[in-house]
Amino acid sequence: MPTVQAVQGPVEAAELGVVLIHEHLRFRDEAVAVQWPGRYDEDAELEAALVAVGEAKARGVQTIVDPTAMFGGRDVRFMARVAEQTGVRVIACTGIYSYDYLPHYFENRDVDVIAEHFVADLREGVQGSDIKAAFLKCAADAAGVTERVEKVHRAVARASVQTGAPIMAHSMPAVATGPRQVEIFEQEGVDLSRVQIAHCGDTEDVGYIEGLIDKGVYVGLDRYGLDRFLPIEKRNATTAELLRRGHAERLLISQDYCATIDWFPPEAAQVFEGQGAIRNWSMTLVFDEVVPVLREQSVMDDDTFRTIFVENPRRWLTG
Ligand SMILES: [Zn+2]
Repeated sequence: MPTVQAVQGPVEAAELGVVLIHEHLRFRDEAVAVQWPGRYDEDAELEAALVAVGEAKARGVQTIVDPTAMFGGRDVRFMARVAEQTGVRVIACTGIYSYDYLPHYFENRDVDVIAEHFVADLREGVQGSDIKAAFLKCAADAAGVTERVEKVHRAVARASVQTGAPIMAHSMPAVATGPRQVEIFEQEGVDLSRVQIAHCGDTEDVGYIEGLIDKGVYVGLDRYGLDRFLPIEKRNATTAELLRRGHAERLLISQDYCATIDWFPPEAAQVFEGQGAIRNWSMTLVFDEVVPVLREQSVMDDDTFRTIFVENPRRWLTG
């Protein structure tokens, strides 16, 4: 029986249960947080994470995959505290969340050396702890797959080939980064059935998403609640159409929720909600407003739910 590394330790794959594949317990700039720690209220951050995860648990969630990497303030000890206090398993990653910038440290080291850093997180532990990462994370956004973004993708790919760890790649459908990201993984010899292209649900272009699915990767319909990228009704229409076309075994549904995020001043959340940029964004939205709608449209039954929330995450994590 294969196991998966959670922050609590190894878990048997069959025990993962209902999984939210893309949620952040906390998202912040680690450089700012280290330089001006007094600007952050760690107790409030912990409380927000406990509330969000607790609400997900009440909907039946047993495991949360948290793709917070370098530059998102990854902190496996924080994750472990939340996991311990809620009883929900949390799965951590290694990798670099950058749309282009790289520190001189990585700028002046080659792809294989970057990969070594990731492999150490997967095999030995993260941040001096014995908590191991279980998957790899990289990103491409509006700037496209720049030279530096490609370097990170190749490092992630090589770490995946060496360890068998799966990959989650943040993508931006508006500039069609997905196909190029997949192409790099393919060139590096990655098993594409262990690749997840995140944020595909930001587009209504079903043909674009199908093009990725045809390569054998998983696609993330994982930003429910972030209406600024695409409103929930349009996301549901895309999801329903993909289900009608028989792609349930390649879909992952989540919210990309951040229990706290430092990108904006605290009052911004209410402003964004007022502007309709976010709507009911939470760790439970997909259970409250997505699954019921898909069931009503007869594109999701109990088996489909199991495929998307239990089996797909398990297969992506363990192969
Ligand atoms: Zn995310």
